[in-house]
Amino acid sequence: MPNLTDNFGRSIRDLRISITDRCNYKCVYCRTGTNGAAYAELPFEDYLRMARILVGLGITKIRLTGGEPLLRRGIVEFVRELAKLRTAHGRKPEIALTTNGHLLAEIAQPLKDAGLDRVTVSMDAVDPERFARITRVPNGYESVLSGVRASRRAGLDPVKINCVLLRGFNEDQIANFGKFAREERVVVRFIEFMPLEEDRVWTPEIVVTLDEILSRMAEYLPLEEIAHERSETARRYRFPDGVGEIGIIAPVSHPFCGHCSRIRITSDGKLRTCLFSVWDHDLHELMRRGATDEKLAEFIVRVVEKKEERHHIGEPGFVPASRTMVHIGG
Ligand code: SAM
Repeated sequence: MPNLTDNFGRSIRDLRISITDRCNYKCVYCRTGTNGAAYAELPFEDYLRMARILVGLGITKIRLTGGEPLLRRGIVEFVRELAKLRTAHGRKPEIALTTNGHLLAEIAQPLKDAGLDRVTVSMDAVDPERFARITRVPNGYESVLSGVRASRRAGLDPVKINCVLLRGFNEDQIANFGKFAREERVVVRFIEFMPLEEDRVWTPEIVVTLDEILSRMAEYLPLEEIAHERSETARRYRFPDGVGEIGIIAPVSHPFCGHCSRIRITSDGKLRTCLFSVWDHDLHELMRRGATDEKLAEFIVRVVEKKEERHHIGEPGFVPASRTMVHIGG
């Protein structure tokens, strides 16, 4: 069986493809205020060829991201093509999408029909006014909520909501998100803020940690931990009556690098082995120069071997990643 493995013995199974670094939101903790592209976008057939080679090497899950992936026309067709790929076990790779949800309501069903399995929607507040202040786009909340509901109707279950918490900014939303998870029957996952923003405002004090999230949620309702795979990035919790699920992704206070199974392709076709990589690897340039699939596969295998052991967030010698989140693909 193909198995893409790094020098630390980790199997690489998850591929994230950023299909654009443009975004229609300008979230205050992510962008400087612009929403334009900094890097190129490739034709879908180029991402498809890369994905096909990577699935042949052992990738079983593909997540489309950006920038905002729903800004790219042709995404439904792209998902349909990805859904035709087969893993070594003869299965369709699992296909997922991370989106801000602004354009999701109309396209959730077509994406599902094309072969999308799951969707994660980013929301950093569950009140419309706060939502607008964070995204710097008026009236987005209603559109995103419609997108979440349309996704559930389309059977993209369970819909996951990702919320990045920043101290002094939206940590007062924690209990409201608990309520939201129960009312909308979605999985809400809180993510610790990482130093990957354009404005470089990160400090350890801004991060709202796993322990704090649990204690704030307990003021609303207590959470019980759900047994989970060690390799899962999120710690999972449920409320005592079983309605609503909460996840906490804690790369800063509880790093999970030892279980990382991810590799990324940026919108301009560079391979990245870690969010915090200080360099990337130009797969597209090799393709453009006419490399065969075999040569590209060899290149990928060599790059993956050198995947970083772990990130160094919060350590004295921390070197910022060579790209910020929106230009990598979160
Ligand atoms: N536009 C899509 C979206 O909003 O989901 C996909 C790209 S966005 C960069 C992916 C995710 O990264 C979002 O949930 C966003 O909140 C998160 N994110 C952005 N900057 C982050 C940071 N510095 N630390 C942690 N998460 C971050």
